[in-house]
Amino acid sequence: MNDTNATNPGTRQQGRQRPAQNSAGEMPIPVFYSPAMVANSESFSPSAGKPALAVESWQFLGLPLEFHAPQPLSAEQFGVAHDPDFVADVLSCRRTNGFSNKSPAVAAALPWTSGAMLSAAREALNNGIGAIAPCSGFHHAGYDFAGGYCTFNGLMVTAAVLLAEGKASKVGILDFDQHWGNGTQDIIERLHLHDQVVHYSPSEFSRPAKAEAFIAAIPKLLERFAGCDLVLYQAGADPHIEDPLGGWLTSDQLYRRDRAVFDGLRRLGIPVAWNLAGGYQHDDEGGIRPVLDIHDNTLVAFVEAHGHAVIPDAEAQRKEAA
Ligand SMILES: [Zn+2]
Repeated sequence: MNDTNATNPGTRQQGRQRPAQNSAGEMPIPVFYSPAMVANSESFSPSAGKPALAVESWQFLGLPLEFHAPQPLSAEQFGVAHDPDFVADVLSCRRTNGFSNKSPAVAAALPWTSGAMLSAAREALNNGIGAIAPCSGFHHAGYDFAGGYCTFNGLMVTAAVLLAEGKASKVGILDFDQHWGNGTQDIIERLHLHDQVVHYSPSEFSRPAKAEAFIAAIPKLLERFAGCDLVLYQAGADPHIEDPLGGWLTSDQLYRRDRAVFDGLRRLGIPVAWNLAGGYQHDDEGGIRPVLDIHDNTLVAFVEAHGHAVIPDAEAQRKEAA
């Protein structure tokens, strides 16, 4: 797919993306998903159950998604970025996961969620544009610790495996979650990967008054990834202004954030593998529709940055199907 036919972002209504103008140059959008990625974590965080909900929501957008089964990671592959004893203990439920329990269901899903990230990264390197891993729960996991709803660091496992295989010589990690990726940084330091992994998460904005300046700065911020073979992008939903753990970007600003990221990386010629990251809002029925709306918009931004048309009325289609 060429990169010359980006469309206008379109106007917005009720926090959801409206149709962009039609354009050519369609490539099916690769999404690495398996029901094996999903677990009930019995936690405040919806992240372990989110892959299925996000994928279901995306199917109402009418986009040409192409689903691929991820390759689950082996303990040896986790051990490229984590302490092998920590890996063995977590996978055998002898040690608490990032949700502070020893759930076998969570342990069984972990090779699939990080596996989706690695599979999406391989596909992005292969097609030169990008791919999606609809999962979260990575960046607070360090070399030998879990925490903050994160058990293994699928970002760093992906980067370290690709570096070890020689598939990449430099990998970027752009983390636009609301919270600092302490686990990512820990692994970079423990494994001395400062020269091969460019990890960036902004701290200088984080207030509604700085939101527009942040979005305007994104093209410049992305220049630090020049020379990277690939960027892994955490499209966090928890910077939303109504998120209980976040609070400074509107739905429209989050959409424009994502669009600026995808447009900017496309201009730099760097493929992107992106995932969902945090988001903790609930609707009146206790569901996570507000978070899914944000993830819908990220998908729309990605597709539009690469020249697809967007079907207008996903919400109406969802209601019809309900
Ligand atoms: Zn977060």
